[in-house]
Amino acid sequence: MDKLSAQQRHTNMAAIRSKDTKPEMIVRCGLWKRGFRYRLNHKRLPGHPDLVLRKYRTCIFVNGCFWHGHDVIITNKQKTINVESSACCKIPKTNKEFWVAKIRRNKKRDKEEQRRLAEMGWHCITVWECELKPSKREETLDSIAFTLNHIWLQDHGAIVVPYPKVEEEDMQMPIAAEDDSLEIHKNKKATMDIQDLLNRTDRFAANAGCRITEVNEQHAVAEMTVTTMHLNGGNVCQGGALFTLADLAIAAWMNYNGQLTFGINNGIMFVSSAREGDVLRAEAVGICDHHKIPAVEVRVTNQEGRLICHVTGMGYRKNINVPTEE
Ligand SMILES: [Zn+2]
Repeated sequence: MDKLSAQQRHTNMAAIRSKDTKPEMIVRCGLWKRGFRYRLNHKRLPGHPDLVLRKYRTCIFVNGCFWHGHDVIITNKQKTINVESSACCKIPKTNKEFWVAKIRRNKKRDKEEQRRLAEMGWHCITVWECELKPSKREETLDSIAFTLNHIWLQDHGAIVVPYPKVEEEDMQMPIAAEDDSLEIHKNKKATMDIQDLLNRTDRFAANAGCRITEVNEQHAVAEMTVTTMHLNGGNVCQGGALFTLADLAIAAWMNYNGQLTFGINNGIMFVSSAREGDVLRAEAVGICDHHKIPAVEVRVTNQEGRLICHVTGMGYRKNINVPTEE
């Protein structure tokens, strides 16, 4: 039932301002807190996107569900256009034709603007007002952050790293194929950029929010902040996420000398739970820097130094260098 008169409805609608609206402020604050920087209402871009993230070549539109007809169904039967309301976009019964026409125009314009932006090489993200209500807010913001990181990786980081075409034993067990003439082990040049390289080429770890922050001959450190996307059904950090973090630290330490090394046997013991907001630090310390089968131990701790999990890892060094981007 539409309880407002046409005049009341008009006054009501006119009162909804288009700038600095609450949903937009939620997105701005949320992304700022997550470390993203942006410009507002870029005048030179089609549609004046609410937020523009140049580094990610991404425009974000924060759309009101009513004005932009979120989830409404538009059907066109025998020249009669019908628009069905959705859960968050209730079209007033009074003056229905007017609102239907208005919402259709807005939707068409949105589509056209995003098409033009895409042609100019911009990505577009639409955030709906209903996705920002308190119960969904953090999840939505995490998902925008995830999408932005994903876009960045696709545009820059996720370079296709060719697997080296070197004839070598195909993952035979360590006892075989000892090659003493190998010079790889002393390859200092390859060690320099292992942190930067793995941070960009381990796409799985990067997408899970894990970063290597330190690596040298003795140890390697990787960090991750637990967000909603890391939580399991018990509302604590999922074991796979912890494993990924530890595995990244292990990979950094094992590949530090530039020789391609894969894990062959990692074991994890979960000691205590990590919760949303925890800043985790995985420190991998070498136990045995064997030229073929190195071994390592990892302790994952939270910001208070509490032990979250303990991981042991054994690797297998291949007779080839870690692939680089050249
Ligand atoms: Zn909605």
